[in-house]
Amino acid sequence: MLPLRICRDCGLSAYTREELELFKKDNTCPYNRDNRCKACHNIINKEYKKNNRGKYNSYEAKRRSIKHEVVVSEDEQRRIELMYIVSKELSDISGVDYHVDHIIPLCKGGSHTLDNLQILTAYDNLSKGGR
Ligand SMILES: [Zn+2]
Repeated sequence: MLPLRICRDCGLSAYTREELELFKKDNTCPYNRDNRCKACHNIINKEYKKNNRGKYNSYEAKRRSIKHEVVVSEDEQRRIELMYIVSKELSDISGVDYHVDHIIPLCKGGSHTLDNLQILTAYDNLSKGGR
């Protein structure tokens, strides 16, 4: 069985919902758990936040973008993968950067499923804002 979460710092693994409680909740993204356990989080948080405001913000933004673990069918998973391949090929052919975009952002409750995905140019994606 794969762990639900592994702490990126100390390697603590959570296999059950109860063990998941040892991991910090993501305030901006209530469906998500942080990939650090609470103990490690407390250690780094104080120092890091104080000394690296800019880095901390970008780390937060990156963390918010972590995909939710939604169960999708094999067929859907294959189609989603195809979207990423198509977007990559579009980028290669056109020389313009294409992204697979979540129509409803993950942190606003959108899911990583086919009906919530679209291919956008990187420019359109970034100018959408809100992430
Ligand atoms: Zn830890």
